[in-house]
Amino acid sequence: MIDSHAHIFDESFSLDLENVINNAKNNGVNKIVLVGFSRDTNDLAYQLATKYKGYLYPTCGIHPSEVSDNYLSDLVYLEDFINNHKVYALGECGLDYHYDTSNKDLQLKVFEEQVKLSIKYNLPLIIHSRDAINDTYNILSKYKEARGVMHCYSGSLEMALKFIALGFYISLGGPVTFKNARVPKEVAKGIPLDKLLIETDSPYLAPTPYRGKRNEPAYVKEVLKAISEIRNIDILELEKILENNTIKLFKLED
Ligand SMILES: [Zn+2]
Repeated sequence: MIDSHAHIFDESFSLDLENVINNAKNNGVNKIVLVGFSRDTNDLAYQLATKYKGYLYPTCGIHPSEVSDNYLSDLVYLEDFINNHKVYALGECGLDYHYDTSNKDLQLKVFEEQVKLSIKYNLPLIIHSRDAINDTYNILSKYKEARGVMHCYSGSLEMALKFIALGFYISLGGPVTFKNARVPKEVAKGIPLDKLLIETDSPYLAPTPYRGKRNEPAYVKEVLKAISEIRNIDILELEKILENNTIKLFKLED
């Protein structure tokens, strides 16, 4: 299995990171995409991935909740970071209208600039989209060369198929394991398997039976298991397909 989205540089792992990584390995996780989202976390992801080369694969981006009036210098910083560090994706970036819509224009601008950077540097995008699915779609659909993944996708099956038509993958995490999560299960059932990824988003969104606890990459197996049941497909066969999808999208060589 590959956990296509984790933040295990988070301070909640500071005491037992070694154990968390060993637990992931012992549970069959053989790669983890380590996702940065701010100046600090891009550094943390890169440093940690250097320590666990061939197991952790770092990315860099500016999350919508990190945008500020300093966005021009942030974008210069980000391009500089890409030029000076081997990263496997641009993101996470995107739009988040859940807590704050007062800075919509700024979010849109910083997101669109990151889409352009991803094309310039031929990097897949890791998209965070919360309560902003239509604006996210409208920006991505302007750029035919944009590609990447809709991380922890929570929208409808209909929209998922539209993102796939643009060239994007759909990544499902903990919520697909929740008993009452009708929509993520519909997405899991309805999208082509060659466009699906799985993730944990550790330390957030732990799957059943760990719901409410700190999430960790080993738990991605619960996501795999849930999808294999929903699709009625052999778990090993599904695992192989999803691994191949992830390796292909992020070009995860050792
Ligand atoms: Zn994340």
